[in-house]
Amino acid sequence: MSLKCRFCGKQAVERLRQYRLSLCRECYVKFYERQVERTLKKYRVVKPGEKVLACISGGKDSSAMLTVMSKLSRTLNFELEALFIDLNIKNYSEKSFNLVKKLCRNLDVNLNIVKTVDYGVDLNRVQRRKVCSACGTVKRYVMNRFARENGFDCVATGHTSDDIVAFFFKNWLSGNLRWSTKFLPRTDGFDKVVTKIRPLYLLSERENALYCICKGLPFMSENCPHAPERDEWKDIIYEIERKKPGFRRSFVTNLIRYLTLTFEDIQEYKYCKLCGEVTTSDICAFCKLRERKNSLV
Ligand code: AMP
Ligand code: ZN
Repeated sequence: MSLKCRFCGKQAVERLRQYRLSLCRECYVKFYERQVERTLKKYRVVKPGEKVLACISGGKDSSAMLTVMSKLSRTLNFELEALFIDLNIKNYSEKSFNLVKKLCRNLDVNLNIVKTVDYGVDLNRVQRRKVCSACGTVKRYVMNRFARENGFDCVATGHTSDDIVAFFFKNWLSGNLRWSTKFLPRTDGFDKVVTKIRPLYLLSERENALYCICKGLPFMSENCPHAPERDEWKDIIYEIERKKPGFRRSFVTNLIRYLTLTFEDIQEYKYCKLCGEVTTSDICAFCKLRERKNSLV
């Protein structure tokens, strides 16, 4: 039995288990774009008038991100340009670049290109087993410096809820406690560090791939030759999601709530007017209780 789209009744392309929703191609595209728009509005990810640099690799996540952001830039009033970092990886960088060029041309988005060799780093000269971590370092450095030196207010990446959950577990289990603000959809910059935004924070890799397919976007389906065959954390997360649809999304949504609450509590403490202990209101809960008790006596 073929499934029907919940919104328009046409044949559905996918059953989205976490939303208990089957949608056709057109309705999925609208649904997906609305999810990103909601993320941007709810978490104030981009401010009107900001100049955003969308970093795109040619893969499904960042291609989807650029496409939605180019649409939303008109309604939410922000400026948008793209950046491709040419890492000089044989049989990979050139193919990715061609896809990125095509996508930016279709979307009419200005594409900036930086070659890492121009910054004095050639990944071909890095030891084989160290390439991935070197690549991450180089990308983060180039994105930030290029954005700052060219007047951009924020750097946007295609990180997904899968990335955030995996990143969370890896850091938590290795005892790295200096990570917290990297897990938010927007991390405000300071000094020479430019603001980082993650518009696809609530979406999954699967949802991004489906969006690219439904829209017929050009994207790179091959993985980087240096990337490990499997990311075990992603497999584990996928398995939990399969058994508990909606796990990823609830995880990251509550992570934001937890981190913002924690920071608010830390930032907004006061001293109790009666006893001088730390509190979030004028009179601490203990003194309120004591006063109430006294009034009863
Ligand atoms: P990754 O580190 O490969 O997981 O990529 C994380 C994000 O960095 C992607 O979603 C892109 O937004 C961005 N990115 C990755 N590779 C490149 C690249 N070669 N050029 C520009 N941005 C990139
Ligand atoms: Zn439909």
